[in-house]
Amino acid sequence: MKTFNTTNETFGISRRQFLATAGLTAMFVWLRPGRLFAEEESTTVSPVLIIRSAAATAKITTTKLRGNISVLEGSGGNVAVLTGRDGKLLVDAGITSSRPGITEALAAISPDPIKHLINTHWHFDHTDGNEWLHSEGAEITAHENTRKHLSVDTRVEGWKFTFPASPAGALPTKVFATDQKLHLNDTTLVLKYYPPAHTDSDISVEFTDADILHVGDTWWNGHYPFIDYSTGGSIDGSIRAAEANVARVTNKTIVIPGHGPIGDKPQMIEFRDMLVAIRDKVSTLKKQGRSLAEVVAAKPTADYDAKWGRFVIDGSTFATLVYAGV
Ligand SMILES: [Zn+2]
Repeated sequence: MKTFNTTNETFGISRRQFLATAGLTAMFVWLRPGRLFAEEESTTVSPVLIIRSAAATAKITTTKLRGNISVLEGSGGNVAVLTGRDGKLLVDAGITSSRPGITEALAAISPDPIKHLINTHWHFDHTDGNEWLHSEGAEITAHENTRKHLSVDTRVEGWKFTFPASPAGALPTKVFATDQKLHLNDTTLVLKYYPPAHTDSDISVEFTDADILHVGDTWWNGHYPFIDYSTGGSIDGSIRAAEANVARVTNKTIVIPGHGPIGDKPQMIEFRDMLVAIRDKVSTLKKQGRSLAEVVAAKPTADYDAKWGRFVIDGSTFATLVYAGV
């Protein structure tokens, strides 16, 4: 198990380990529209099945943050774990096929049973493990829109994929609209709804005493984010959430992004500034009457691609996502 500290060196190690996991390689394939179209045209293999099977062999990395809080990386979105006498609480559920790896990683942290699960939003790579975690005894808390989307067949146009309604055991058992406070394992947790951002179901989870904030997919540390317009996400909502995140943390806060390494306020500022700059460029071009193809060809993300475009969303894909919302 690694121990988290705030040197850049640790971030570097964490990032390399993160990128090295098989699950993320699969997600790279999964989220790239170009590859996805090709996949759908040439075969019937679902990208969800691809990521599920890849996650089965993904290496799960555990990093201890502060106090009784750790993070698991390697199966879908980053999973925070709080331990103690009230049982383990997880923030996000990973991919079901990683169950053996996640079970092993959880057992290595502490023997406490799994009692609570919070979903940061409805997306598959954060809720796929809901059913098995619930079967182990976890009560599932989420925003009401997470339950709404999981309850019915839901199309994500940006992934060209329709997710079937989840089984009853995977559905959140406790939902809220704006905020919720929990007190477990001598820790106060504040759950807060973002107005529509990456989706219309995003929440943050703050461990107030430890000063740790899980912001779900409102932050992809070091990567262009996916924006899910099909369930209420937008570039402007994503920018508003990035602003709110920056305003909310101090330089001492440890921030868990949905994807990418554990980070801090300066990195959140960099992400916010990148979103704003690219939004402005794409908006200016669109207002000049340029088509999507013309805007993508003009490479409005060129200055940023080397840093931000090397993960699941490349520059062209991100420009396309921004174009849809300006
Ligand atoms: Zn997401």
